[in-house]
Amino acid sequence: MRFGLAGVFHESHSLARPHTGLEQFSRYSGEQMLANWRGTRTELGGEIAAAAQFGFDLVPLLYFTATPSGPVTQEAFGTILEAITRGIQDAGPLDGMLLVLHGAMVVEGQADAEGLLLQQLKGMMGDRPVVSTLDLHGNISERMVAFSDLLVGYDTYPHVDAYERGLEAGMGLLRIARGEIRPAAALEKPLLLPVPQSMPTASQPMQDLLQLAHEMETDPRVVNATVAGGFAYSDEKRAGMSLLVTTNGDPDLARSLARQLAALAWERRGQFLIRNVAPATAVQRAIGAQQTPVVLVDIADNVGAGTPADGTVLLEELLRQGATGALVTICDPESVSQCDAAGEGAEVALRVGGKTDPYHGGAVPVRGQVRLLADGRFRHVGPYMTGQLADMGRTAVVEAGGVELVLTSRRQAPWDRGYLQVLGIDPAVKRIIVAKAAIAWQSAFGDIAREVITVDTPGITTARLETLPLYQIRRPIFPLDPV
Ligand SMILES: [Zn+2]
Repeated sequence: MRFGLAGVFHESHSLARPHTGLEQFSRYSGEQMLANWRGTRTELGGEIAAAAQFGFDLVPLLYFTATPSGPVTQEAFGTILEAITRGIQDAGPLDGMLLVLHGAMVVEGQADAEGLLLQQLKGMMGDRPVVSTLDLHGNISERMVAFSDLLVGYDTYPHVDAYERGLEAGMGLLRIARGEIRPAAALEKPLLLPVPQSMPTASQPMQDLLQLAHEMETDPRVVNATVAGGFAYSDEKRAGMSLLVTTNGDPDLARSLARQLAALAWERRGQFLIRNVAPATAVQRAIGAQQTPVVLVDIADNVGAGTPADGTVLLEELLRQGATGALVTICDPESVSQCDAAGEGAEVALRVGGKTDPYHGGAVPVRGQVRLLADGRFRHVGPYMTGQLADMGRTAVVEAGGVELVLTSRRQAPWDRGYLQVLGIDPAVKRIIVAKAAIAWQSAFGDIAREVITVDTPGITTARLETLPLYQIRRPIFPLDPV
């Protein structure tokens, strides 16, 4: 068997700016795609491993991936789609396509772009199977299901099973191509729009939902059961929770199992509700804490979900309340340039952060001393993407009263401690750490945090969806409406 391998992976926040152009995507093709991803704990790594493990040939075509950010431009999507379809045309005879998609990519002026992509690819492949992996935050549509033979979603958040799902997708594709199974899928979309913060799979209600899905998968008639929490910040009709069950040739069973999962999700909807602490109260509690460090989770500036990383509400509150031993990371290339011009050891007066959009607080006046200037390149120390090179751009460390301020030129999500180590900062000795993330910060600070306070900051990844201008999402939907 000879399968094509391709993908485009992007989680798009409809309100994030700027929009995401082709230059924001890393592009891998041919042998370079295999060389770069082989051996990684990613779905692409799993799909590559599946070829060796289950005995099929892979023709690596193209893979595009970008950090979560604003909607993908029409031009970028058009180019990507054309490149992948041309890759398939030029690949010679293929017995099927193995894909990597996220499921929450938003494209300017194009609803359900991933559904369109699958439709075009399936149109080219005809009765030869098309199989893809999806992120747990994917917003699965009927079109995506109709124009694919099998969709395999992650079962974990934080996403630590991507590799295994890649293996599963590879094995599924092989079985379909050999005629061993004939997939029949059913998608249920209950009226639920949970936020990522409510979806860690080690907690309720996701834990019970995944357990039920795994029980279903022990039935030999069931090929896959996927519980996708969805991405509420993709302003599209398909946004929200998806329960997708694929059986071997039994559409009625698929429907009844998907309904069972949807019923459990609906029954437990109250557990998806989130209550966070007001910024002033959170900072006050952190200052008074006996056990430190305290992690203040800046939930609405969740960099890994596409936010600007320059939210200032917690910085302002820490300065106002005279906190000591606090660590705050903010993306602000303008302030970095100012520090660069002043030089190490110099006193600076800055207006920090709050420069991207009106959602995350305004620029905060800061007086302090430039302790360090650095190029901002570092290697992940793990456990997440261990060994991966990363680049936060030119970086300045400024001591401002009791706050140590890390100012970066590129958006840096707090999912690896390596970014601090390279600056000579030990987060374990800090009293307060501000983390701009929902759940993923745990891989950087989870082992040292003595207390965690999730803060109701303003911003585009707030848990209070009703404060955001989202207009395309289907209504009524819980918790936006009394359903
Ligand atoms: Zn995700």
